[in-house]
Amino acid sequence: MQQAVAIPADLRIDASRFWSTIERSAQIGVGRPGGLARVALTDADKQMRDEFCAWCREAGLGVTVDAVGNIFARRRGLEDSLAPVVLGSHLDTQINGGRYDGIVGVLAALEVVRTLNDRAIRTRRPIEVAVWMNEEGARFSPPMVGSAAFAGVHPVEWVYARQADDGATIGAELQRIGYRGTAPVGGRALDGYFELHIEQGPELDARKVPVGVVTHGYTAHGFIIDVLGETAHTGPWPMDKRKNALVGAAMLAVAVNDIGWKYHASGGKGTAARIHAWPNKPGILSDYAQFTGDVRHDDPATADAMRAEFMDALAECVRRSNCEMKVFDEWHWGADIFDREMVALVRDTAASLGVATLDIASQAGHDAYHIAKVAPTAMIFTPCRDGITHNNHEHAGLEETVPGINVLLHAALRRANRA
Ligand SMILES: [Zn+2]
Repeated sequence: MQQAVAIPADLRIDASRFWSTIERSAQIGVGRPGGLARVALTDADKQMRDEFCAWCREAGLGVTVDAVGNIFARRRGLEDSLAPVVLGSHLDTQINGGRYDGIVGVLAALEVVRTLNDRAIRTRRPIEVAVWMNEEGARFSPPMVGSAAFAGVHPVEWVYARQADDGATIGAELQRIGYRGTAPVGGRALDGYFELHIEQGPELDARKVPVGVVTHGYTAHGFIIDVLGETAHTGPWPMDKRKNALVGAAMLAVAVNDIGWKYHASGGKGTAARIHAWPNKPGILSDYAQFTGDVRHDDPATADAMRAEFMDALAECVRRSNCEMKVFDEWHWGADIFDREMVALVRDTAASLGVATLDIASQAGHDAYHIAKVAPTAMIFTPCRDGITHNNHEHAGLEETVPGINVLLHAALRRANRA
């Protein structure tokens, strides 16, 4: 059997090549000045996917797409039947997204592979670059649905049925843009999963540390609440008879925000993310509204307490709004999800490259949270200026980003070559 080539100590990525792919990506699905509006399964998303797949094929990778539109680009291993080491993130953005977000993670993974090609470095295990479908949830709820399906959280048919406000479904849109692939979703072993992502918080930037070793995630409890009222005329109908679903949902929004403020001092957050109301017109009270929000905290017990407070507040909102409310969906993520060995590998690799690190918790949800359910997983954070993200002013500097990609490169190599 062919031996895996020893890892050259001076091996580093090609920073300018990496940056030119970031800049190319920044031309696809342009949004507000400086930003991107490359929402999942739109024409812009298709264009980015096509370009990414072309880059992968040029790099000699075998590209497959699974039935929910996750893309895997595979570099063969010397022992090719072994489970692959997977590096990835997502290429979709929010409606007012930045150019970096998950894109940095995907294109960093591609740069890792290109760097290995430059030096003709073979690895024992295969290495795959993964692009997860609809991480952002900007068009189809819930977010991270491609990685969730891969991890067996949702069946494929359930994913296909997710509907956007314009009535389009994931299944139909995947078909339309040509990314309803034939590969089965999940159900195969991954040796390990690394996700590099911009921090989406201010810590690394403020401390001038290039790499965050993600130790765990904030515990988050999210909910979608249906509010059921009754339509009536906005003029004559008496206050004590009103069942205005819009008002019920607005009360929930304020309640979750208040809970966030209550725990603000210890880093807690309460988010009113979305209200959808119907008919939502000037002359009529709405008989239906749907509220989406979440609470999160670094301490799982406190996050649980915040959830309980929200549920108490919900009962109070029912009383005050005179509407019925039902939990349509509820989710939970975070806490101690990452693989200790993989996390230690990231930390040790950075130390051996002379890259400073900070142990850090992730406050946002990531595809890695789902993949951690089915494979040993670790995340690497890189800095973003002032922690600004999901905003067209999101900025990550090349110099601040490159050390993290080199850590990804060497950590992936060590993992892929281990005995
Ligand atoms: Zn992201």
